[in-house]
Amino acid sequence: MAHNHEARLLQVNGIVQGVGFRPFVYQLALRHGLKGEVANTSSGVSIHIEGPADRLRAFESDLTGKGPPLAYIVEVTSRSDIVKHFSDFRITASRGEASMATLISPDVAVCGDCLREMFDPADRRYRYPFINCTNCGPRYTIIDDIPYDRPKTSMRHFTMCAACQAEYDNPLDRRFHAQPNACPVCGPRVGLWDARREAMGLGDPIAAAAELIRQGKIVAVKGLGGYHLAADAMNAAAVARLRERKLREEKPFAVMSPDLEAMRTYAVVEPGDEKLLLSIQRPIVLLLKKKPHLLAEEVAPGNLHVGAMLPYTPLHHLLLREGFAALVMTSGNLSEEPIAIDNDDAFGRLARIADYFLVHNRDIYLRSDDSVVRRAAGETRFLRRSRGYVPVPVFLKHALPPILACGAELKNTVCIAKGDKAFISQHIGDLENLATYEFFQKTVAHMQRILGVRPEVIACDLHPDYLSTRWADEQEAIPKVRVQHHHAHIVSGMAEHQLEGTVIGIACDGTGYGPDGTVWGGEVLVADAGGFERAAHLACVPMPGSAAAIKEPWRMAVSYLQDAFGAGLWGLDLPVLREAGSEKVRLMLEMAARQLNSPLTSSLGRLFDGVAAIAGLRSRVTYEGQAAMELEMAAVDETESAYDYAWEEGAPCRLLPAPIILGVVGDVGKGLGAPAISAKFHNTLILMFRDLCDVIRRQRGLNRVVLSGGVFQNARLLTGLIPALSTRGFEVYSHRLVPANDGGISLGQAVVAATRIEHRS
Ligand code: ZN
Ligand code: ZN
Ligand code: FE
Repeated sequence: MAHNHEARLLQVNGIVQGVGFRPFVYQLALRHGLKGEVANTSSGVSIHIEGPADRLRAFESDLTGKGPPLAYIVEVTSRSDIVKHFSDFRITASRGEASMATLISPDVAVCGDCLREMFDPADRRYRYPFINCTNCGPRYTIIDDIPYDRPKTSMRHFTMCAACQAEYDNPLDRRFHAQPNACPVCGPRVGLWDARREAMGLGDPIAAAAELIRQGKIVAVKGLGGYHLAADAMNAAAVARLRERKLREEKPFAVMSPDLEAMRTYAVVEPGDEKLLLSIQRPIVLLLKKKPHLLAEEVAPGNLHVGAMLPYTPLHHLLLREGFAALVMTSGNLSEEPIAIDNDDAFGRLARIADYFLVHNRDIYLRSDDSVVRRAAGETRFLRRSRGYVPVPVFLKHALPPILACGAELKNTVCIAKGDKAFISQHIGDLENLATYEFFQKTVAHMQRILGVRPEVIACDLHPDYLSTRWADEQEAIPKVRVQHHHAHIVSGMAEHQLEGTVIGIACDGTGYGPDGTVWGGEVLVADAGGFERAAHLACVPMPGSAAAIKEPWRMAVSYLQDAFGAGLWGLDLPVLREAGSEKVRLMLEMAARQLNSPLTSSLGRLFDGVAAIAGLRSRVTYEGQAAMELEMAAVDETESAYDYAWEEGAPCRLLPAPIILGVVGDVGKGLGAPAISAKFHNTLILMFRDLCDVIRRQRGLNRVVLSGGVFQNARLLTGLIPALSTRGFEVYSHRLVPANDGGISLGQAVVAATRIEHRS
């Protein structure tokens, strides 16, 4: 046997600390009858292993194939080592300045083992809402510094009892080095309070909260990354009250159901959705509502979809098992403010919304909203990438210098690049109020701390008035790189697919600052990571009233009608014009003609708005993207016909909206409804972009097309355009790791900045 006795040294990099990786290695070594040692190092986990060669090979293959659920192995290097004749296999103390370069795990759902224990009356953690182990529970939201050890988390206020400590110290226990380990004797507790912050009587606070929700009350529930506002999703009056108090008219609420069976009473759950719903990240998944369904219409008014999720904290499981088919679980905030995490903050800001508060005393150090995904064109698409996914990095093709990218204005995220990894923050929100701006600053500081990064360069948007741009300007000692919004969109797509060289980039969204002083948003770029050329764009029209034109799509309708018909507009008999009244229409035309508060825009988002208004779907919106979303939902018609489209050659080409508008108006005149008009409009965009890409390919010899920007959250457009381009031989790249919307911008900014810096030196 001794003749084939060998030793190997393995170095494992990735998310391998704080996730039970060393105990896993320990048990694996025992199972294969091997000897040696395992230790945490500054860059991951180091394993010295010795024994017969065939067993070493088996060990190595199991190491990558059978790791613990939260481990994420990026790389294993393996080389032969000298045989040291270990007498056993052991876990040794951490070496050196531990953890500086290791990755922190995201917060994930409570695992099956913990759930079984929680519902076992004989278990010492029976019904304990903070049960967790190395395979599950909070991570990112309870850390305020590295290395990831209990004193650096919000668990530092709780001293483990003897039983918990014994689990924590035992390498064979599921709770070996589980930093948030706790039990009813030593750990955090829940309490139920009224809106005046007085504790409610005796008994089980969770059961009492459930009873109040059943009675139609609104209860603020402290979760993993922040507070939710909970209401019975089948109780129309309760949900309506929540809307009124939260100042949220129609923007859909997410719901949580105890299990898939309950979810299937109101939504269509396909196998792909099921996998996402059950994943340890537990995102909100956009599902088609069933007809008929039992959800209150107020949950997602006028919407074919509902965002649903399964419980992910032990507390959620206990609450949902009190007999609810679905609870509204919406972010605990006033409309557009960041979600409340702090108990004081929650009572301060939510007291007018919630009747009661289900609180606990484990602090949340960093808020993280629920992630939102949808399946489209055969892939998972992020609408919001946050809890459960952050801080898993996007792996880049090349190492970058330390860069901080500040993101866009809406759906803001920030990104810190470090080596070949780009860490995109959780969803920060719309940087339009002080509370969100403070959250932005806090997140920047927090991420720098836990990643151990001092940025050498700051990337930001070209827009001089964005709060994120202004913040960047204040960081005086650090050089800045300003990145055009749509260029950042395309490069974020290139980065996640590790594309190099030059691509055709179709970047379509609502708003982005253009260097020519117009509002961009229907852009076809020829781009690489350092720069871009505007190959084509939607021809500009005025936005009468600027921001008001975003809230009132009828204004865009007037603008597009004027563009297509000129004075002939007055001869049109259209519902949208009748509803507005000739006086208001005249006012819009005058504002536009005199260029009063009427910036020019090439935004495709605005064209969606205008067409939605002309088709009679919606003249005013109550949340961003509502008209475009409703136009997409309207497109149930299977027609393959399309409107005429045309562009004016030039540098750049101008894609003309007029032929499309003429077609839409003609159809409205013929009495065609929104389903057919919307389907034809979508078909038109698909054909137009396909043909345009053909022309650009002939001129430039480019064969790769990247699709980015908020418009590509539109499943119908994405599902149509990808095959339309692929059947013409294009390689098409769309987002799978980061959102197509402005939540993905920071990644593109970081890569553009790095490329420009490199070329400068
Ligand atoms: Zn667990
Ligand atoms: Zn304990
Ligand atoms: Fe955008």
